[in-house]
Amino acid sequence: MGAIEFGTCDICGKETELERTYFYYPIHCECCGSKDKDGQKQHFELVHHCKDCPAPIPKEIHPLLRSMNGDLIRANISNILPSNIRGMFIINDKIVKEQP
Ligand SMILES: [Zn+2]
Ligand SMILES: [Zn+2]
Repeated sequence: MGAIEFGTCDICGKETELERTYFYYPIHCECCGSKDKDGQKQHFELVHHCKDCPAPIPKEIHPLLRSMNGDLIRANISNILPSNIRGMFIINDKIVKEQP
């Protein structure tokens, strides 16, 4: 924390000082190695953005999951809300849609 990071904003594409926002999901993934306060694995999506662009909540996430036979699969999950968020974010659209 406190280190200044330069790079390209994921939202507007500007080359500038970046903030990081983490969206955490209650998913046992093989990609992140992050654990919640109870020691449960959790997947996160990281958004790099400038201070003018709060991170929109992801509409789709891509955790790496292990299947029954041990294969790793990149999942494609929509209609899910994060269980925790760290950083600056906005909700600019409906994330969870009612099933018809
Ligand atoms: Zn930006
Ligand atoms: Zn993950």
